Amino acid sequence: MKTLPHLVPVGLFLCLALSVTSAPEGATPLSPPKPPKSVAPHVPATWRVGVAQADITPKDLLWMAGYAGRKKPAEGRVQSLFAKALAIEDEASNTVVFVTLDLIGVPQSIRRTIAERLERELMIPGANLVMNASHTHSGPSLRTVPPAPPKDESVENTGTQQSFEYTQKLEQDIFAVIAQALARKEASRLTWNKARCGFAMNRRRDYSLPAGHPNANLAPNPDGPVDHEVPALRIEAPDGSLKAVLFGYACHNTCLGFYNFCGDYAGYAQEYLQQHRPGFVAMFLMGCGADQNPYPRRSDVVPGITDLELAQQHGRSLSNAVEMALTVNPRPVSGPVRAAYEEIKLDYAKSGRAPHDYPVQVIKFGKDLTLITLGSEVVVDYSLRFKREFAGAAGVWVAGYSNDYTGYVPSLRVLKEGGYEAAAGWAESVEDRIADKVHELYRKLN
Ligand SMILES: [Zn+2]
Repeated sequence: MKTLPHLVPVGLFLCLALSVTSAPEGATPLSPPKPPKSVAPHVPATWRVGVAQADITPKDLLWMAGYAGRKKPAEGRVQSLFAKALAIEDEASNTVVFVTLDLIGVPQSIRRTIAERLERELMIPGANLVMNASHTHSGPSLRTVPPAPPKDESVENTGTQQSFEYTQKLEQDIFAVIAQALARKEASRLTWNKARCGFAMNRRRDYSLPAGHPNANLAPNPDGPVDHEVPALRIEAPDGSLKAVLFGYACHNTCLGFYNFCGDYAGYAQEYLQQHRPGFVAMFLMGCGADQNPYPRRSDVVPGITDLELAQQHGRSLSNAVEMALTVNPRPVSGPVRAAYEEIKLDYAKSGRAPHDYPVQVIKFGKDLTLITLGSEVVVDYSLRFKREFAGAAGVWVAGYSNDYTGYVPSLRVLKEGGYEAAAGWAESVEDRIADKVHELYRKLN
């Protein structure tokens, strides 16, 4: 027993030494790290950008979000969860703020409170705030209102009370990380490009098959619509050193169904990107992945491979795509940056049910990049539609899971087909209402 404390550091030292100095047997040796070099030195560093992150992993083993069938609280963590903020200011001092969260969703009340504080305390319009959640199903359950006192005094209500207290603190933590990012703004160069990543597959069945076809009720559907693009906004210092990346992908973070806190594939993609880059921050912006799942999915598909290993493999696959998006043909991003945000009334099919205030947001980076964000769980049809309708010189990037978390938002096609993503009960006007507002905000920013 006495020798153990000595053995561990020696072993650790050897591992570290080996990982730095040599590649595995038979592999091409790794090159030593090179000094920073811009991928686009011709692009002027006209922006001021700040980035910050905070660990938001619950201190307590809270109940977890994502699956209705959970029977017990979390039992541990295999990866920390983060709130990250990116503040981007143009030459005219217009600032947009991106917040990404390794959480199930963005509660609308939290977004509203933070947007109000941003306006009041930091003079940044609420329209310029994007809050996006990765939709990891291995994060804590969120609760924005206190639980009702239990009817039976002897029954403890600790689970929901803890979730409420966590969510209250989360709101403070998110505002603090935004303030930190704003305080850290420095001259920066912005470029963007995209790559592709293929593990997302349409998780619905193929509704074009006639009833009675042997595959009519089988999912996923390899012929179903997907969005495999991986857009990446690259932020570098004037000397070329990489400061941050904001990257996207349209796919559920549902590799995992265990009882440990974890960011799922998006958590690993961010971790891998940051791994050998001290001070660099990678931020995941969830796309329109409501009808997309990561595949292979779950431990029984690939012999000997656990679902945690699949999450890590998909994370590596996505981080590799981001590496390419950071490297190939950098496209300059120039200002000004302008944002428009509105909440529209989305009607339910059932008469008498109050409509939902649904957030739609468009952000334009000059004539180079247009970002459209939509609330809640948006199916991939919206992303494909807007990329088609706004195709032109500027890149088009569509994110769901932003500024609100209400449930599934189907396209008219999905609504008519039916199934899980169509079950929220929206009226058939849902897609037109959203698309009309996106076009209106887009025109307004021209
Ligand atoms: Zn979902």
